[in-house]
Parts: sequence; structure tokens; C-alpha cells
Amino acid sequence: MDIVIPNSGWIEAICGPMFSGKSEELIRRLRRAIIARKLVQVFKPAIDTRYSESEIVTHADVRMRSEAVSWAPEILGRLDWRTEVIGIDESNFFGSELVETANQLANCGKQVIVAGLDTDFLGRPFPPMPDLLATAESITKTLAICMRCGNPAKHTQRLVQSEELIVIGSVESYEARCRLCFEPGVPRQEKLNFGSAGLDETSESV
Ligand code: ZN
Repeated sequence: MDIVIPNSGWIEAICGPMFSGKSEELIRRLRRAIIARKLVQVFKPAIDTRYSESEIVTHADVRMRSEAVSWAPEILGRLDWRTEVIGIDESNFFGSELVETANQLANCGKQVIVAGLDTDFLGRPFPPMPDLLATAESITKTLAICMRCGNPAKHTQRLVQSEELIVIGSVESYEARCRLCFEPGVPRQEKLNFGSAGLDETSESV
């Protein structure tokens, strides 16, 4: 009599600040699965259309086809159940429902790889990442390099004025910063002396 061992799924989490290579790491793992002829599906939140609506794109312009969904449970509806590996980018833009969705998929035998920011612009844990990290089998924390001093950077520094939790942007609105250089919220604008260049002093320098 054959013994049937069901496939166990699992969750791998990739977290860190912006510019730390989270999406690149996600794409690297997904490409490796594709090379092994596993069926792969990639999802991202519809909110993040910085570069493309149908692809996940790294800051270095590495691309992979993806499907944009408006909330986490939609992933279950869009899933081809033959899919073995599920990649989810920008996980911090999904609500708390992502924790349940990711665990449901893992419980069904799927390999689920989630990538996202672990802290917000004030340095606070960014839901739902803390709960994803707690329920994941493995965690990779990626570090960036502080754009001010070159130390290892775990913070995402917002450079534009906004109290909103989510402001979609890239190098024009964010920097990676280390613990020492991080200024929670909006950084102080450094006073620049333009002398008599006739520049408007009220204009923002970001
Ligand atoms: Zn620094």
C-alpha cells in the first residue's frame, strides 16, 4: 500500500527598507523556481503602479510578470490551483487579511514568498509584516546602505511632506538611512545659502 505524504507548504518572508533589494531577492527566488519547472504566480497590490501595472519591477529595472490585486483574498480567486510557488511583492500595502491568505495558501501546500517593508516612515513596525514574520517559516532581512553616511541602513526616510502612511514613490521621495541618520517623519530642511542667485527661498530643496 502506498503511503501518500501530502506536500507541506511554507511561508518565506523577505523584509527590509526601500533600496535594500527585497524585490530583487523575491525575483531571484521565483526565477530559480521557474528554472526548476515549478508553476509560479506573482501578485502585487493594485495601489503600487510606480513602474508597471502588470510586472513587479526593481529599482534597477529587473522585471517579472505579475497580477495586480486590490486586496489579499483576491489572490485566492486569481490562483490557478496547479501553481506551486506564489510570490507577493509590496506586502506591506496589503491589509491584515494577507496574514490569513498567506497561511491558507501555505496550509494548502503552496510555497509562499512575501516581500515588503518591515517599518514605516516613522520607524514603526508596518502591518501586516510583523504578523507575517511571526507566522513565516523563514525570514530574510535585507539591509540597504545609508545614503547619508554609508552605514548599514534599516530605515526608509521620507523626503516629502505628508502624514499619510502610504505615499507611493521612489528615489525622489525616499532614502535609505541608518539608525543615526534617520529622522522620523519628514527631515529638517537644511538651510542652503544661495547668496544672491535670486532663488526663491521658500522653494523646497527635496
Ligand atoms: Zn547614516
